[in-house]
Amino acid sequence: MAKTISILGSTGSIGRQTLDVAEKLHLNVAALTAHRSTEELERQARRFCPRLAVLTDESAARDLALRLADTPVKVLGGPAALEEAARIPQADTVVTAVVGMVGLQPTLAAIREGKRIALANKETLVCAGELVMAEAERWGAEIVPVDSEHSAIFQCLQGCRDRGEIKRLILTCSGGPFYGKSRRELQKVTRADALCHPNWSMGAKITIDSASLMNKGLEVIEAMRLYRLPLSQISVVIHRQSIVHSLVEFRDGAVLAQLGTPDMRLPIRYALTFPARAESQEEPLDLLSCPPLTFAPPDLEAFPCLSLAMEAAEEGGTACAVLNAANEEAVGLFLQDQIDFLEIPELVARVRETVKSIPAASLPEILEADAAARAALRALKR
Ligand code: NDP
Ligand code: MG
Repeated sequence: MAKTISILGSTGSIGRQTLDVAEKLHLNVAALTAHRSTEELERQARRFCPRLAVLTDESAARDLALRLADTPVKVLGGPAALEEAARIPQADTVVTAVVGMVGLQPTLAAIREGKRIALANKETLVCAGELVMAEAERWGAEIVPVDSEHSAIFQCLQGCRDRGEIKRLILTCSGGPFYGKSRRELQKVTRADALCHPNWSMGAKITIDSASLMNKGLEVIEAMRLYRLPLSQISVVIHRQSIVHSLVEFRDGAVLAQLGTPDMRLPIRYALTFPARAESQEEPLDLLSCPPLTFAPPDLEAFPCLSLAMEAAEEGGTACAVLNAANEEAVGLFLQDQIDFLEIPELVARVRETVKSIPAASLPEILEADAAARAALRALKR
């Protein structure tokens, strides 16, 4: 169980919920980081008294340092300071709740200190999952997933002594705000429509990924890396109610699932208390009043992002880093109203065609693939 935590991305959706859980668990907070949410980080720093507060935006960090001058909190700025927060000696557990590939290097830094990683930042495992898992093994760092589906699987696998007994992982998917829409109908959807998720309140990027089903594609890759399984042993089912968080089918035909209300505080809490379980303060799941549980196959024609991710997963090497970078850039453009919703998969597909991927990759090769994909996407939109 965690005693002292460092949270990378503490001002975001997962970061704020982590602080809520940490407070109830009476955990110490050693470091907090954000990009440029100065006011929120100041508020958090005053409340949780970390040793270190980091803003990756340098000028925002200077402002924060002035604001916190009357406190003992050390303030640092710039992307390198994120790694300092990840390595801070006082923390036994690092919660990776930043959004995007920027999470990769700080996660590796924390792993190399042997810390437990409560991993929300799925882009890290998508870009460099093989490398991250190998480093975690080498340094004895435990990776406990926060993503609800992967946490569900992690919970179902407690007591499984032989991974060979797993027949398949079944990831559930809410289907997002556009479930049931055809490609034609998706031509007209707006940013505001896409930001309206039916079951979960999350940061903007993952909400768009949930609408395009790229989120589920990224989660397929995340599951392959975490559980070291091939694509053929992972499937996706649409489950609109977000109550069954995912399932594991074993070779004897048993299927185990983890159920709960759609509330990220459960997987966050479990990642912090594992292998123990702590009391929840949230509304419990009531089977008698919850809606009927339904399951359906995903529509790969209307939502090509899922297939694009599966193709990259099959290809391996730097293909997933290219897919992820292209998606991050395309979602950024969509959030700025510069492209239509259906251009997200179009651009990702074109970048995947343009940027050649290479097999098994080192960190410099992954960073290079990421940069090449971002440049290729920008060139397409110029
Ligand atoms: P948010 O957008 O709500 O928060 C992102 C956090 O990262 C903020 O603290 C933000 O700081 C910080 N940040 C943003 N850009 C940078 C940057 N360039 N450098 C350093 N820090 C940065 O995201 P979420 O909390 O929704 O998601 C975080 C991660 O967790 C993602 O990888 C997501 O896929 C994953 N996840 C989220 C779930 C959810 O329910 N939200 C569920 C499962 C997984 P600032 O406030 O200053 O911008
Ligand atoms: Mg998820």
